[in-house]
Amino acid sequence: MENFISKSLELVIFGNSPAWTMRLLSIIPEEKLLPAAQSVLFGITTRYAYHHSRFYRQLFDQYNVNVKKIRKPEDLGAIFTTGEDLRKTPVEDFVCSKPITAYQTTGTTSPLPKRIFFSDSEVRKYGKTGATGLWKMGIRPEDRVASAFDYSFWISGPTLKASLNWLGAFHIEAGKIDPKDFYDQIKPYQCNVFVGDPSWLLRLSEVAEKRGAWPVKMILAGGENMTEKTRAYIESVWKTDVLLTYGQTEGYGNLGVECRQKDGYHVNDFMFKFEIINPDQDGYGEIVYTTFSRNCMPLIRYRSGDVAKFVKGHCSCGFGTTKISKLRGRVDEMIACGMGNISPWMFEQILKPLALASEDWQIGVVRPGNKDVLEFRIELDDPKGRGEQVEKSILRILEQDFPDYWKSYTMGLFEIQFRFFDRGRLRTGRKLKHLVDERTELIRNGKPTISAAGV
Ligand SMILES: [Zn+2]
Repeated sequence: MENFISKSLELVIFGNSPAWTMRLLSIIPEEKLLPAAQSVLFGITTRYAYHHSRFYRQLFDQYNVNVKKIRKPEDLGAIFTTGEDLRKTPVEDFVCSKPITAYQTTGTTSPLPKRIFFSDSEVRKYGKTGATGLWKMGIRPEDRVASAFDYSFWISGPTLKASLNWLGAFHIEAGKIDPKDFYDQIKPYQCNVFVGDPSWLLRLSEVAEKRGAWPVKMILAGGENMTEKTRAYIESVWKTDVLLTYGQTEGYGNLGVECRQKDGYHVNDFMFKFEIINPDQDGYGEIVYTTFSRNCMPLIRYRSGDVAKFVKGHCSCGFGTTKISKLRGRVDEMIACGMGNISPWMFEQILKPLALASEDWQIGVVRPGNKDVLEFRIELDDPKGRGEQVEKSILRILEQDFPDYWKSYTMGLFEIQFRFFDRGRLRTGRKLKHLVDERTELIRNGKPTISAAGV
């Protein structure tokens, strides 16, 4: 019965094309359709997980949950699923039915990967919702798409492929090759849409700025958060819009897409129930989501680790699904130190006006003596010539834009120091952690060892 309801909803909502879904949503406003559908799907998901997953059966039994009564996230009280649960629990305890594929992600906190398994029907369904998102962004079947996503255990490429297959648009997969090679080889395919991660797209645009860009319809970026400075640069080179997608491996890379307003993501309400937990006074908190209609490895109230807020009011683009802001950072990147509670977004704001060599930078909190020291690690093209000027600019912006932190600085609660690197020196892995707490390591080693390694 539950399977029948789930399949019927899929058939009604997705029909046989993204155009059908968009027409349906223009007749039945999402505000009316979604709450009822989400309540049914949340109940179905919880019951299914309880009956098929050892992890959830044990978890719900431990909290005496009566799964027959669950309709919404709040009914589960303080029960969540965390990244640590995925790392430490045998994946067999999560998997409920035969998988067809799996992907993994290391994130920024641990070298241990999280492995997520998917069934054939899930890949198909995510293709349908992904295609609807691409349609919403403006991609049509007559467009030609070139993707440069890294395929090694990573989900972004397969997600895009499943979505474009359903949309019916021609696509070519270059893989994450050198942007110079991509530039040389892609022209004959006459692609008018490029897709890649932000740092790769930035390098491609640097190549195109020197050697010449050609007309493209749009550029889609996924995989990392992109600063507005990088977006503006890429848009100026290609003279088109750059739109971002929001995805995590745990959600088949398919959580939300930007519209032309470029001020947040319309999330995928058909496949997920979103919550923001522990919000601050401005509404920013951790994004938590529950996966709907997943028969292989459903996740109940999964703590994403990403910090954002719900955007209130109806978006002027006309799309009525839930909207969340651009990500402000990672929960696990927040650090309490002599400066106060600090997050990477603050330093992004401080460094944004400066002409740095790259978007790669890192703030290390170290403690060589008794006092916390914030070490700015920055890539500069001419460290000897420009270092001093950059140091002065950073202190001036800190004083102007963050008066409370500046006060702590003038009171001597923490110190600031600077280290400059040549371009490309800071990043050693796929992700570079922007804010790192190295005080524990310092205490353990008894000497100040400074690591600029990405994770
Ligand atoms: Zn919108």
